[in-house]
Amino acid sequence: MLVITLSEVFSLVLLGLVLLFIAGSAIKEYITQSRCKHEDVRENMACHAICRECGKDLGFIGTWREKQKEKADVKSDDSV
Ligand SMILES: [Zn+2]
Repeated sequence: MLVITLSEVFSLVLLGLVLLFIAGSAIKEYITQSRCKHEDVRENMACHAICRECGKDLGFIGTWREKQKEKADVKSDDSV
């Protein structure tokens, strides 16, 4: 027989609220990061490029710089 006490209900509600809060902030962060173009980055201790706007980890700084160079090359090719 399943008996749910008031304290169990309370802890379940609390757990639900915490999960909702975590999911909500994760979704908010995801939307912010997907809208952001990550144009301005800084380098962290692990030599990763971190976006100044949204705080997203864009991977190794060298790889990111290579990508930016490629983008710039494509742009200059278009204008010629
Ligand atoms: Zn960004």
